[in-house]
Amino acid sequence: MKITEIGEFGFIDAIKDDTLFAPESVVIGIGDDGAVYKTTDGMEQVAVIDTMVENSHFIIGTTASWYDVGYKAVASNLSDIAAMGAVPTHLVLSTAISPQMEVEDLISLYRGIKDICRTYQVNILGGDTVMSKEGLVITVAAFGEIEKTKAICRSGAKVGDIVAVSHCLGDSGAGLDVLLTRHAGYERLKRTHQFPVPQISLGRLLVEYHAHSLNDISDGLASEANEIAKASKVRLLLQKDRIPCSEELRAWSAETGKDIWTYVFNGGEDYELIFTIGTADFARLQRVYPEITMIGAVIAGEPGVYVQDGALQYQVLPSGWNHFSEEKR
Ligand code: ADP
Ligand code: MG
Repeated sequence: MKITEIGEFGFIDAIKDDTLFAPESVVIGIGDDGAVYKTTDGMEQVAVIDTMVENSHFIIGTTASWYDVGYKAVASNLSDIAAMGAVPTHLVLSTAISPQMEVEDLISLYRGIKDICRTYQVNILGGDTVMSKEGLVITVAAFGEIEKTKAICRSGAKVGDIVAVSHCLGDSGAGLDVLLTRHAGYERLKRTHQFPVPQISLGRLLVEYHAHSLNDISDGLASEANEIAKASKVRLLLQKDRIPCSEELRAWSAETGKDIWTYVFNGGEDYELIFTIGTADFARLQRVYPEITMIGAVIAGEPGVYVQDGALQYQVLPSGWNHFSEEKR
């Protein structure tokens, strides 16, 4: 059945249940002009928003199913909340839907949305539904809370800090190539691309252990590290051989001849965290959360990001592993 057969109100009716996963803070949910929710005393509110466009951010049947799109549209927002050190609480979303769309596919999209919201106890407070002549456009705005004055900014990096990242980098970009080429195997890479894990618990620990600066890695390490360097007016010196990469990424690169470092520095959507933190706090944090790796240090100098690669040192521009690899040749 096409969406046009049930219309906007039929659609809202079909998705409106099972949307509150932490109902105590919700006064009015879906069904009125606006939603009403309570905030917690002593907490500040964080707001983020992200849009995904069909055939630009995802290709149905190739890089994602409808379920995956719903899941990831929420995950990218929760990652931004995590990158402030906050806890996500609620979201609202807008869906622009093509008249060709099957109701079943929309239900699937919402299953993805609801599953990740259930996992992280995020309430779906409402949304907007419009028609799109092209493909689907989904915009999610999420809200979160953090203790007063504790939000971790990009601008707080201090000379002498350690630079560290969570888990492995580059898997999502490689996963996208696996999916686009319809290559068999490489489940980990594909999973990372389709179901990124917002690093909420690590974000909370970074508040507790006094990290000085924090960013989520949505556009590749080069871009995110430069954002910290620029905002904090410091230089980041990264050790190339310390950057954590998965065995699967290495295997994919070995099989296809694609450069691991292009995935790491320029590949998007890993949704891991990059942060800077004092040496002693890093050591304490690593005892409670071992899946973090020191990849460099914050040093004095003109702001920018540099990579130590054996005896050589190069600057990495925000969008620029290309620049980096050209210099290398
Ligand atoms: P209004 O015309 O007052 O803006 P709508 O008729 O657009 O309200 O929406 C009715 C209710 O359904 C509202 O509570 C709104 O938040 C919710 N809603 C509309 N579209 C969506 C959607 N795509 N996802 C979730 N909730 C939605
Ligand atoms: Mg209204």
